[in-house]
Amino acid sequence: METHIVDEKLKQMQFNNAMASYSSRGLYKGFGYLVALANITLQAVLVYLVVPYSIGLFAQVLVIICAYLSTDFINGLTHMYMDHNDHYDSLAGPLIANFHLHHKIPKYKINPILIVYFVETGSKVWLVVYLAMVMALLCMFPVTPMLAYFLVYIGILSSLAEVSHYLCHTSNSRLTLIFSQYGLLLSKKHHARHHLEDNVNYAFLNGWSDQLLNLIAKQFYPGYKNTTDKHYAYYDALNTESR
Ligand SMILES: [Zn+2]
Ligand SMILES: [Zn+2]
Repeated sequence: METHIVDEKLKQMQFNNAMASYSSRGLYKGFGYLVALANITLQAVLVYLVVPYSIGLFAQVLVIICAYLSTDFINGLTHMYMDHNDHYDSLAGPLIANFHLHHKIPKYKINPILIVYFVETGSKVWLVVYLAMVMALLCMFPVTPMLAYFLVYIGILSSLAEVSHYLCHTSNSRLTLIFSQYGLLLSKKHHARHHLEDNVNYAFLNGWSDQLLNLIAKQFYPGYKNTTDKHYAYYDALNTESR
C-alpha cells in the first residue's frame, strides 16, 4: 500500500479512538463547561472594567467596526488551523476530532440563544488565554480607552461568532435574515461555500474577512476535503451526538 493510504487508515483509526474517548468520558464535556464558565466570567469582568470609560458614540461605532473585522479574521484563522489539525492521538485529540464533525453534519441541538452562547463558548480554549491576557493588560498598564474597548469587544464577539454560525445553520427567522443581510451575522449563501467547496470561507462571524482568509488558505493549507474530512469516513454517523 502506498504511504498516504497507510497514513489515512491510521488517521481514521486515531479519529475513531479519539471520538470514543470524547463520547465515553465526561471529562471532555466537563472541560468544555469549565472553559465556557471561564470565558463568560472573564468577559463579564472585562465589561465591568471598561464600562466606566466614555469614548463617545462616533468612537464606539468605529471601534465596534474594527473589532468586528478583527474578530471575523482571528476566528477564521483559528478555524483554518483547526480544520487542518489531525493530532487525534494528542491530549486534545478528542476535542480536535469532535471539532471536525462540523463538516460531516453540522448538527446543532436547538437551544435558547443564551444556552448556545454558553455551550459553544466552551470550545474556545484559546479565548480563555486571550481574555486573561487582556485583563492583565488592563490591570497592569495604562491602556487608552479606545484600545481597551477594542480588545474587550474582540473577546465578546468571538463568542458571538459561534452564535452566528449556529444561527446560520439552524435559523430561518426574519431577524436572522435581516442581520445577515446587513452583514452583522453570517449569511447562509456565503457560508455554504465552506461546506460545499474546499479550503474557502473560514470566517464565521459575518464573513467580511473571507477574501483575505482565502488568500492565506490557498498559500499555506492544502484544504480539508482530501485530508481531515477523510478521517471521519468510518465514523458512524448514528453515533454522532448532537453538539
Ligand atoms: Zn470548517
Ligand atoms: Zn458551518
